[in-house]
Amino acid sequence: MRLILLGPPGAGKGTQAQRLVEQYGIVQLSTGDMLRAAVAAGTPVGLRAREIMDRGDLVPDDVMIEIISDRIARDDARKGFILDGFPRTVAQAEALDKLLAQHGLGLDAVIEIVVDEEALLARIEKRARESGQARADDTPETFRKRISVYRAQTAPVAGHYRAKGMLSQVDGMGTMDGVFSAISGVLEGSRAVAGRA
Ligand code: AMP
Repeated sequence: MRLILLGPPGAGKGTQAQRLVEQYGIVQLSTGDMLRAAVAAGTPVGLRAREIMDRGDLVPDDVMIEIISDRIARDDARKGFILDGFPRTVAQAEALDKLLAQHGLGLDAVIEIVVDEEALLARIEKRARESGQARADDTPETFRKRISVYRAQTAPVAGHYRAKGMLSQVDGMGTMDGVFSAISGVLEGSRAVAGRA
């Protein structure tokens, strides 16, 4: 099973991806996690990405496409994967289309977790007030920036997949369990269709 989870920062993509990993035994490919690991290790990519991430901008497409291209080719991705945080631009989505075609692979589903951005911001502000300790890119100010970057650059990615008839949407404002069962419903539906084909 290969799928993409789309949705703005804070929509719960990472949490849902982890549950899907348990359920389906496939790997979670989180480009945000990969970049944070690169920053922590002080690699050339990490050195370049750190400041961009801290201000809530996007790391350049060519860097991201290379990272994901290498990652998808690894053995543990053969059984399937969940892309969490990639693609984040239409150029990344187009590059992914090519990459998958080269490997003779298709996508089972592209699922957009739809949330109320104002409610998310309220959640982030509450978390910042209560903990005082957050990811450098998780302050209310940077969160606003990341949401505006999402609207401008990532929201069109949903349109890219909608135009291909591949986009499913789930309501992300319910409980974690509710969102998970909505996602599972989409996946079971796509498996049933694949089984008939
Ligand atoms: P995330 O953990 O997915 O919210 O990602 C954290 C940060 O990493 C983002 O705000 C971006 O700066 C960067 N990032 C992660 N994935 C991508 C991507 N596919 N393209 C560009 N930048 C990315």
